[in-house]
Amino acid sequence: MLTKLSNIANDINTLLFPHACFGCNDRLIRGEKLLCTVCRHQLPLTDYTFNEENPVDRIFYGRINIKKASSFLHFTDYGIVKNLIHNLKYKNQEQIGEFLGNWYGHIIKENDHLPKIDYVIPVPLHRKKLRKRGYNQTALFAKQLAKHLASEYLEDVLVKTANTRTQTKKSRLARWYDNKSLYEITNAELLKNKTLLLVDDVITTGATMELCAEALLKIEGITLFIASIAVVD
Ligand SMILES: [Zn+2]
Repeated sequence: MLTKLSNIANDINTLLFPHACFGCNDRLIRGEKLLCTVCRHQLPLTDYTFNEENPVDRIFYGRINIKKASSFLHFTDYGIVKNLIHNLKYKNQEQIGEFLGNWYGHIIKENDHLPKIDYVIPVPLHRKKLRKRGYNQTALFAKQLAKHLASEYLEDVLVKTANTRTQTKKSRLARWYDNKSLYEITNAELLKNKTLLLVDDVITTGATMELCAEALLKIEGITLFIASIAVVD
């Protein structure tokens, strides 16, 4: 009888809370959203808050002229962060970006090392890719950062002109020739003399950020900061 009752209780629980943790796939219990309590505590947060030099800055040294770079999480080939990003990008779980952006936005705001950011700009998807996926996986994360920093979120000012993957295996120079105008600015006048925060999902080699930054830095008087949800160490 007791077993039966507990089964019924489990069934009701499943009906009421049908979601699994996006980190470990365990069933979420009452009060948990997206991530279970264990995964929340095990989430590998960086302690980068745009204050002192960090490994993300070092990815871009000698490549592009940015003020500072930062990432919220350490990305590894297995585990919670990989599962989160996979769900965010490929499983229609757009709200994961909002959840992480709200968290990191709060941390950045609290630490207060950034100057006034005029615009927060996500790394864009090509329109065909955007149509296919239905959303830019970086958008809600970037929007949350903008909200916490009291900045404006700008979506259509930086666009991707071809539906190609950023090539990571080639030499940097060859890549540059290939991808010269892979990213373009639609309204340079608006960005003139502004301070920008460019946001991506995962920084691996930094190639995508480099190309976007090159496009942005052609505009007069740009001050550029970079952030991502996660960084591959
Ligand atoms: Zn979990």
